[in-house]
Amino acid sequence: MGQSSTGPGDGSGPLEGACGVTAGEGSSDLGRPDLGRRGLLTLMAAVLAGAAGAGPVLTVARGRTRLTLPLAHAAPWRLSAALDPPRLLLDMPQAPKGWPARQAGKGLVTRLEQHRRGSGHRLAILLTRPVALPVTRVSSHGLIIELAPGPASGFARIADGRSLAAAARPRTSLPLVVLDPGHGGKDPGAIGVRGTQEKRITLAAALELKRQLEAGGRCRVLLTRSRDVFIPLGQRIELARQREAALFLSLHADSAPGARGASVYTLSETATDRFSAALARRENAADQRGGLRLPSVPPEVQRILLSLMRQETRSGSEQLARFAVAALGGEVPLLPHTHRRAGFVVLKAPDVPSALVEMGFLSHPADEAALNRVDHRKKLAKALAETITAYLGTRHAALAEL
Ligand SMILES: [Zn+2]
Repeated sequence: MGQSSTGPGDGSGPLEGACGVTAGEGSSDLGRPDLGRRGLLTLMAAVLAGAAGAGPVLTVARGRTRLTLPLAHAAPWRLSAALDPPRLLLDMPQAPKGWPARQAGKGLVTRLEQHRRGSGHRLAILLTRPVALPVTRVSSHGLIIELAPGPASGFARIADGRSLAAAARPRTSLPLVVLDPGHGGKDPGAIGVRGTQEKRITLAAALELKRQLEAGGRCRVLLTRSRDVFIPLGQRIELARQREAALFLSLHADSAPGARGASVYTLSETATDRFSAALARRENAADQRGGLRLPSVPPEVQRILLSLMRQETRSGSEQLARFAVAALGGEVPLLPHTHRRAGFVVLKAPDVPSALVEMGFLSHPADEAALNRVDHRKKLAKALAETITAYLGTRHAALAEL
């Protein structure tokens, strides 16, 4: 905090800390994969394409047999083969819901049987004859196994219990939260009536929030800066986008004549009031760079993708802000009309739900005194940690249930 200003690229970039909890195998909330924005779009596509049926489906065409197994996208599985009789074995940690214990076959499949196997579960795919090495792929309908007739000698070579195919290792990382301590380095931000620099308050608050979030074990936390350095606004957004952050929270304590208390801002092209517009103008002036880099796909696809992402991102940002207002209200004084909207550059990522929190105003002597106190910053951080945990809980639970 007391370090002198240094430029970007001095090696003091983002600070990341993993939580003390390692993700389980989908056994609890903590193990839930972070779907990310791109994952969400894939999921939307899958839902639009129609959910798979309850049990395995066999189809036959041109001498080949296709087995479609409705499994959750991230479900682990392993496929092997065995002889006498020729069969394929699909091992899974749990019995899939709604699959019949026995099911008649079709084409190259005599029948399907479900077995308990140790602490896990096995689907035996009994075959009418030896098959060539099965081709597997995972689609929105689940796991698809394509079977074609093959020589007995070839089948004998693969039927030795080794793995023929397995689910890609699921992403078990916890969702990533990017915290953005406003200003830094050559940009001190607002200066309080007693000389407090905004950049020091925002960093101290972000570090405390990071500590509390990591103690909670529900997310990973990345700071856009962990020291007194200048980071352009565009670079802060890019960091969150590149790392597919679940959310981006920018922390500030600006100056605004007469204003007092905490407030929360989400992006809007038009500000809700002149006060918010002026605040956004001042923040944006800290850096004029804020252009978005869009994926290199045809313009019409880009338009649809962006529209979907923006819609989802906007609703996420609004929810984040609502939670923040509710949580902050229990801990610290609030600015009237606490949730406001304005065109902050730092909130413009089209694919990362973002909010900006003005923790108070350094231009107000009472706020300045409070923000300088460790216990007050702890209260702010507690409210924001609750906000983030609640947000991640609802968003990720909702996605996991689809
Ligand atoms: Zn600021």
